[in-house]
Amino acid sequence: MGETMPESVALAGGPEGHRRLAELIPLVLDGLAAGTAERGGAAPAGGPAAVAAGLAALTGARPLAGATGVGAAQALTELSRLLAAGSVDPADPACAAHLHCPPLAVAVAADVVASALNPSMDSWDQAPVASEIERELTALVARLCYPDAAAPDALVTTGGTESNLLGLLLAREQDPAVRPVCGRNAHHSASRAAWLLGLPAPILIDCDGERMRPGALADALRDLDGRAVVVATAGTTDTGAIDPLRALAQVCRRHGARLHVDASYGGLALCSAKLKTRLDGLAEADSVALDAHKFGWQPISAGLLAVREAADLAALSVRAEYLNADDDTEAGLPDLLGRSLRTSRRPDAFRMAVTLRALGIEGMGALVEHCCTTAAGVAAMIEAHPALRLWGAPTLSTVLFRPAGADDELVTRVRRTLLEAGTAVVGRATMPDGVWLKLTLLHPRASAEDYRPVLESVVATAAELAGSVVLR
Ligand SMILES: *Cc1c(COP(=O)(O)O)cnc(C)c1O
Repeated sequence: MGETMPESVALAGGPEGHRRLAELIPLVLDGLAAGTAERGGAAPAGGPAAVAAGLAALTGARPLAGATGVGAAQALTELSRLLAAGSVDPADPACAAHLHCPPLAVAVAADVVASALNPSMDSWDQAPVASEIERELTALVARLCYPDAAAPDALVTTGGTESNLLGLLLAREQDPAVRPVCGRNAHHSASRAAWLLGLPAPILIDCDGERMRPGALADALRDLDGRAVVVATAGTTDTGAIDPLRALAQVCRRHGARLHVDASYGGLALCSAKLKTRLDGLAEADSVALDAHKFGWQPISAGLLAVREAADLAALSVRAEYLNADDDTEAGLPDLLGRSLRTSRRPDAFRMAVTLRALGIEGMGALVEHCCTTAAGVAAMIEAHPALRLWGAPTLSTVLFRPAGADDELVTRVRRTLLEAGTAVVGRATMPDGVWLKLTLLHPRASAEDYRPVLESVVATAAELAGSVVLR
């Protein structure tokens, strides 16, 4: 280890690591500031070609990495700036297409120390205290989902997709012939999980509006003799609708079916005393998927799977001599390998733990409430606007709307035009009556008024595009 080591090979850990980081992080932050200013709005202007041209200009159209490097300082400065300039920024209220949250600074800062020390969550000898923090955090999440259960537990996952996969896997481990059943409103990851696990494609249950019908579920379960795992949704991706969880849980119990609730979007509303009544019945589920990279304001990824019976997780236990040899486990070293399908695993629990400790459960709940209140305010603005139509009252923080009189093609062109101009990143949802524009509000500080410019841009763009159609 020596004087001649180039700066690019400096380490983040060790007694000197923090000094090297203190030298390099300002370069990243300068790049972030410069690139954000350069972009000047919610998204980079010009679409895919302009963004690709930005990278080509930086590399001189040569490969990203040549035989010799440019050094840490230059690489960080240039690429941080490029990333900021060419990214959409969910911290701008006009970037509201997806369940894509603006991370809290406290969570991002916590990630620096986690990345520097690089705990890997597959064995205690790689993550002594990180695994203890994860154990506390998952216990807290399990208790949040299952306040009255005897022995609930939770795992950290990469997100709703992995949590849904695990939910179906645990069901299949109890019955290899289990039949997946989900609402027509379910996330595509439920079908993919069935496919990946070698299970039949899910039986699809009709909805009332956007919520699974308990009567239709009962009809489907009657023929399955209890050999079913039902996937209900608490917060659909398209509209934020929450299935009638208590009624569905009763149907599942009556027919001996397992229940997994995909609460990837709505789950952390449990932090709010006011909102958690909307999730009534959630605690009856056998397993629950939650995402702290939506409500939760974590950088990706920060998924969670809670189970009512910790014993269900025994299905994941696995032995690997080098990570959890029997004699090590007997000697008291915690066995972490069965806490995930992955082996090497980032300590995502660490920044979740820092964030929850900083805000408190109620503080987190207040941010969720803020987003839902803002959505109601935006919905009211849309309703009052003569040139806009509101799809319906928001359940959580998703607002669907469209320019009055627009056909589907115009709606989709408005979205692309705003994206291409860098003005706004608005989502889309295809409903039975056509395509709607979607705002998914996850900004914990923006007010309803902060969305007025987005609405006015939609109105102006729709008028412009409609006008150009007439002229042609
Ligand atoms: C976001 C979401 C998912 C997928 O979660 P990822 O974290 O992207 O893997 C699944 N279901 C619902 C309802 C979601 O909102």
